[in-house]
Amino acid sequence: MANERVTLLRSAKIPGLGWRRGQAIVGKTGKVKPDFMFLGRGKKKKEVHAPEGHYVLRYFDGRLPRYKKLANDPSEALDELQRAKSELKFKNAAKTAGYIIPAPTPVKRKSLAEYGREFLEQKRSPSLKLDEDTIKLYTVIVEEFVPLSGRTYPEDITEADVIRYCDELDKRYSDGVRARRYTSLRGFLFYCGLEPKRLITASVHKRLKRHEKKKVRIYSGVELTALLAVCDPYHHALFMVALLTGMRDDELAHLLWQQVDFEANVIRLAGYEIQHKGKTIRFELKDREARDISLFPLLRDELMRLRALRPKAVFVLGTKNDLPNVKILYALKSKARKAGLNCGFCRGCAARMECHRFHVHYFRSSFASYALKRNDIRRVMEWMGHSDLETLAQYIGAADHCPAWLANLYVLPDSSSKSEEAMPSSLGFPELSKKPLK
Ligand SMILES: [Zn+2]
Repeated sequence: MANERVTLLRSAKIPGLGWRRGQAIVGKTGKVKPDFMFLGRGKKKKEVHAPEGHYVLRYFDGRLPRYKKLANDPSEALDELQRAKSELKFKNAAKTAGYIIPAPTPVKRKSLAEYGREFLEQKRSPSLKLDEDTIKLYTVIVEEFVPLSGRTYPEDITEADVIRYCDELDKRYSDGVRARRYTSLRGFLFYCGLEPKRLITASVHKRLKRHEKKKVRIYSGVELTALLAVCDPYHHALFMVALLTGMRDDELAHLLWQQVDFEANVIRLAGYEIQHKGKTIRFELKDREARDISLFPLLRDELMRLRALRPKAVFVLGTKNDLPNVKILYALKSKARKAGLNCGFCRGCAARMECHRFHVHYFRSSFASYALKRNDIRRVMEWMGHSDLETLAQYIGAADHCPAWLANLYVLPDSSSKSEEAMPSSLGFPELSKKPLK
């Protein structure tokens, strides 16, 4: 009878072959030889060194082999084998005696959706101190992958499900987004008890994690002039603040007038929780570090004029209803299109006339690159909120041929640099009579 046998196997990664199962090696003393296993059958059977692996118990359900995963501990594996053998002996004896052993009640399996909820709960736990962006990333992955896979249990997930998900991402986003989400998805699959290394073959993995490391992009003087020329006063101020503070997308959206100190000539960025229009609005800085950003003269002018237009607003760059503007990226894309700056060739241009060459983040790299032309590197690091040079270096693009008027926007009144070159008139605050406030 086939189901009378239980065998101890080893499952391990063999260089050049991938994951293989083979008989575990039990020595003359009755002990399991650690990290070794048999490969092949009959005359071809040979001992191989296979340290990367774990033990497996094989038994039969009728003629079907069943495997139970064990840890990579030889003596523990041997104990498990003995236990399984005596259990089997007992069952067979009982069967011969005509006694039917009641089947154990099946353990309730956890569904993929349940794993998803638990995974996110864990990621949100305060002790992990993950920043909002990381938590958002995991949330997006669980919310996208679980329904798309169509699987109820994690055990049913296949490599094809992962590929399909990545293909969907490729349709909508850049390589970088796909690569990042794929890598984090592996973390989630691992949490579900799967082994991404075994689930996804090496060549597929290589393709899915690959993305082009793009050179830092900064906006040129020509682009900035053209972009600002098509803006109404609100968007003009929005992009000028982005260009002259290097603030992140959500920092721009949440900037409060309270944080703009005209007297000290500085913006004091910090996290907050405020009650506004019957709502609690919370804002947290990345890495929770407050920082001050100096007000350059043109930025100061821009903000003073904006304040005059919106004397009672709470948010500096808020919406008409004075709430955080969550559509800054969209506004930038549409102004770039209006200014005739779309490249016309990228995926974004082809799909929605939203060019990949325009992103709120590029104001941040432009700020770092141009500000460095006229300021001490330590000050630029402070303004950017960077504590090390490596992080700042990631933002520095080639600003060698930057026109003097652009670099001079980053000169504080107490420094001495001057230029004869004229600033393009479109950089000044647009005429109110011509363009209505958004
Ligand atoms: Zn484009």
